[in-house]
Amino acid sequence: MEIKKLFIPGPTYVHPDVLAKMATPPIGHRTAEASALQRGISEKLQQLMYTTNKIVLSTSSGTGLMEGAIRSLTQKKAIVFSVGAFGKRWWELARLNGIEADLHEEEPGHPTMPETVEHYLKTGQYDVVTVTHNETSTGIQNPIESIAEVVSKYPDVIWLVDTVSSLGGVKVEVDRLGIDVCISSSQKALALPPGLALASISPKAEERLKAIGPRGYYLDLGTLVKYVDEKDYQYSCTPSIAHMFALDFQLDRILKEGLENRFIRHVEMAEYMINWASHFYRVFPQPGFESMTVTCIENTRKTDIGALNKSLRERGMLISNGYGSLKDKTFRIGHMGDLTLEDMEALTEAMEEILGLN
Ligand code: PMP
Repeated sequence: MEIKKLFIPGPTYVHPDVLAKMATPPIGHRTAEASALQRGISEKLQQLMYTTNKIVLSTSSGTGLMEGAIRSLTQKKAIVFSVGAFGKRWWELARLNGIEADLHEEEPGHPTMPETVEHYLKTGQYDVVTVTHNETSTGIQNPIESIAEVVSKYPDVIWLVDTVSSLGGVKVEVDRLGIDVCISSSQKALALPPGLALASISPKAEERLKAIGPRGYYLDLGTLVKYVDEKDYQYSCTPSIAHMFALDFQLDRILKEGLENRFIRHVEMAEYMINWASHFYRVFPQPGFESMTVTCIENTRKTDIGALNKSLRERGMLISNGYGSLKDKTFRIGHMGDLTLEDMEALTEAMEEILGLN
């Protein structure tokens, strides 16, 4: 049976019209049309990200730009705040690239709190801080607003934020929050196929990039910015033009839906899933820090998630088991991108029927 709706927390469901744009015949990546395409994408992303900062695209998944960012921007040492596997990934990326970094991990289910960030930043040891806005492995949305207040007190610190599974579903006001590098991927709340990453780069980050100079080639953030500046929104290497056509089209759809409407739709889906999960199971994150795009559910009924997914597959649906060591102890349901409340209702109805819940 073909899976019609993916309820895994990425890659997520792609609308057929968006998918069709991936089949647009390629254009040359050194042409005026390519520049115009990327300039248009940047302008639309600036609206979605509430920023006037420069936008770079990368033909990689989000991890590519995370690696590029922490490597290109850390002069002294980075402090990495982790509330799950993807938070910790920043630290692994730093370590494997020979970049000095410390890791602060929270207790399972707990968010990154502003006072913890303050505790580290006030030591003066760090010039880069990384925070995960929405941790997909544990379903936690971190309190980015209050963290922003702390980070703003340290003007020499560059703030990298992972919005891989929130941008396009949750409001991220890059300029108001003072995020220096805000990174996302195509396959989550933006609802495109995987394979493209994007980031906004603040003037402060640009200065740091110039001061440090290139580190690496393909993922060097300074090189990506330089090409946008000097080569009229082009790339150092051949990008996935197919993704760009689809992204340009999808951003039009997103803006047409209306950003506020889109964010409200995500809140409605999240509230519905949190209520459902609280009724039949237990929600994994601490109350008040639940993600608006993925619900991580404690498997209090010891449900066989593999068997559940087998039955869901027969109905053209799929959810996710817990991530890493949380496998079978938790499971996750994505509600992001172009999914709707009706889709979530159809999913829970199917799960209740399969599991005999009432
Ligand atoms: N951060 C978060 C919060 C994620 O959910 C993911 C992917 N699941 C990543 C980073 C890594 O992104 P990508 O798979 O696009 O490299």
